[in-house]
Amino acid sequence: MMNLTKQAGVLLGITAMAIFSTGNHVNKYSYYRMHSQIKNQTPVADPIAAKNPLLAKWTGPYGGIPPFNVVEVSHFKPALEAGMEENLAEIDKIASMQQAPDFENTIAALEHTGQTLDRVQKIYGIWSGNMSGPEFQTVEREMAPKLAAFSDKITQNEKLFKRIEAVYNSPEKQKLSAEQQRLAWYYHNLFVRSGAKLDADAKVRLSQINQKLAGLFTRFGQNVLADETDQMLVLEKENDLEGLPQSLKDAAAGDAAGKKLQGKWVISNTRSSVDPFLTFSARRDLREKAWKMFVNRGDNGGEHDNNAVISEILQLRAERARLLGYATHAHWRLENTMAKTPENALALLEAVWTPAVARVREEVTDMQTLANKEGASITIEPWDYRFYQEKVRKARYDLDQNEVKPYLQLEKLREGIFWVAGELFNFNFSPATNVPVYHPDVRVWEVTDKITKRHIGLWYFDPYARKGKRSGAWMNSYRDQERMDGETTTIVSNNSNFVKGKPGEPVLISWDDAETMFHEFGHALHGLSSNVTYPSLSGTAVVRDYVEFPSQLLEHWLSTPEVLQRFALHFQTGKPIPQDLVNRIERAATFNEGFATTEYLSSALIDMKLHLSTAPKIDADAFERETLASLGMPKELVMRHRTPQFNHVFSGDGYSAGYYSYLWSDVLTADAFGAFTEAGGPYDKTVAARLRKNVFSVGNTIDPVEGYRGFRGRDAKIDALMKKRGFPK
Ligand SMILES: [Zn+2]
Repeated sequence: MMNLTKQAGVLLGITAMAIFSTGNHVNKYSYYRMHSQIKNQTPVADPIAAKNPLLAKWTGPYGGIPPFNVVEVSHFKPALEAGMEENLAEIDKIASMQQAPDFENTIAALEHTGQTLDRVQKIYGIWSGNMSGPEFQTVEREMAPKLAAFSDKITQNEKLFKRIEAVYNSPEKQKLSAEQQRLAWYYHNLFVRSGAKLDADAKVRLSQINQKLAGLFTRFGQNVLADETDQMLVLEKENDLEGLPQSLKDAAAGDAAGKKLQGKWVISNTRSSVDPFLTFSARRDLREKAWKMFVNRGDNGGEHDNNAVISEILQLRAERARLLGYATHAHWRLENTMAKTPENALALLEAVWTPAVARVREEVTDMQTLANKEGASITIEPWDYRFYQEKVRKARYDLDQNEVKPYLQLEKLREGIFWVAGELFNFNFSPATNVPVYHPDVRVWEVTDKITKRHIGLWYFDPYARKGKRSGAWMNSYRDQERMDGETTTIVSNNSNFVKGKPGEPVLISWDDAETMFHEFGHALHGLSSNVTYPSLSGTAVVRDYVEFPSQLLEHWLSTPEVLQRFALHFQTGKPIPQDLVNRIERAATFNEGFATTEYLSSALIDMKLHLSTAPKIDADAFERETLASLGMPKELVMRHRTPQFNHVFSGDGYSAGYYSYLWSDVLTADAFGAFTEAGGPYDKTVAARLRKNVFSVGNTIDPVEGYRGFRGRDAKIDALMKKRGFPK
């Protein structure tokens, strides 16, 4: 397949921690050297592999597996360059072919190209997200513009486009299968949207813009990372720890020791450190410090400030959209999505905004009342929100996060998601040994069909935080299912940032993190269920505002009694979570939804409005301030991702004018779960089979609107979403 703009690269959860995704290869992040013990486990015999193992075909079991054991950072640049060269030669061969264009010699032929580069980029993307460091970042800064220029060389190849267009417009197209017709549409659309119809001057300018943007995206992400790495809150003495649970104190002490600050405690400038601190620290002065540090990432002046970078990105995107014939970047981005237009997306965001803000007012009143009752004599500020929200939760629902955690063991929940996959899709997971991994923490499972025993794919699990791995949780595809030349099976991973326990001790996670596990596993199941012919249409390669639907849907299975009774087991007693505690969790399900929805919506609205603006030059700081004021943003909270740190939107094009996608998908999610509850419940086999057939297995071979209708028998309604979030209709 060609290595152009595949929609779904890295997919992340909205429920917890960072929600962040870009394409596969423009990320960054700190610092890590590969453990020497996992290098060079197997001797290299193949002459190409001996020169640069990244260029070799994947060998070994399961139709070949990624050779993680032999990768060196120094391999990437030459491998990417060789991969691009090979791909361009393949393209040239198709473009200059004498035979008249038809589906096989043009469209299907394109699907066969770029396989070496694809393999290299998959591993390059994994290093970017999981194994980054200064040496790797230097390669990224150099390669990002080159990869952008390479993409443009293909989509601007006039002879090639003429062939694609001929196939697309040919009456012969009607004789093709539905999937083949969709693939012809996909290529034609991709090329047109990438400027294939522009004149020569416009093409040159477009390519300049794309290369400049690629460099700016890399810089944006590396700037955020620098502030996350370089800044921290150092706690000097015991009474700085007031209110923190022991687990948090231990983590902060461990963090400090790692930074050669023995005897002190460190709160890192990342969400997974700052949010728990804001939730539990009784020291208001320190909460304020931590909050300000975190929300100002990328906005501190100096060499890592992102404001000028944003301004330039927006200007270039607007120019590119105009060149391509669209009113704004948002119109260009949304053209093929389910929402279709920015106006449709905005209408949804705005419909939910008003009830969400109204709920924030209620939440603030509750918190203020409680603070007054305690004699705190404060006015609730943003650094108080999580702290008092936790107190209100305890007072109103008798629910303490620390009471739930002992029942949520990482490994038991992993068994739980396997069990759910078995019930819904007949998947069986068994450990795959002798598969090389890029870090000793990574484990691999083989997925087979429970009944037919057919091999389905591999699932890699990389659960723990480490230096050089970006924050948050995500799913990656290492290889997409397809059957152009025999069956190629799926390889996917789930990655997250849990803090590793002491040896032999179970890792306990929060309810939110457990939901995120189910979410990311939903993306993995989407990839593993794929049943298509052509790789460009495979698995999670669907439009952005549909791709979060399968993953968000899976979150619903965590709270089913079947999962909780079997897998939410106390780490000491082994007893299942008591029903009384489950009831309290359920009663509190929509608690604090005002905060969660408003912090998300404010980011989604700013993203969309920034990309709808036609102003010649945008001052990001002023734009954010003025837009939030005009929306009536409550002063007690802040955007989930402020503009200068909004990696989704500015470290790649992936989620630009696309952050609304989470809410769009959640409308489908809430509505879709109703199909189960209206039938025999979450494990209804008929509904599960319908879900697999119309949604999980079809990839991008059909229009998602049709896929959803096939599953639900109608279009989604917003009612279920409003109910799920506890808002009036
Ligand atoms: Zn996701």
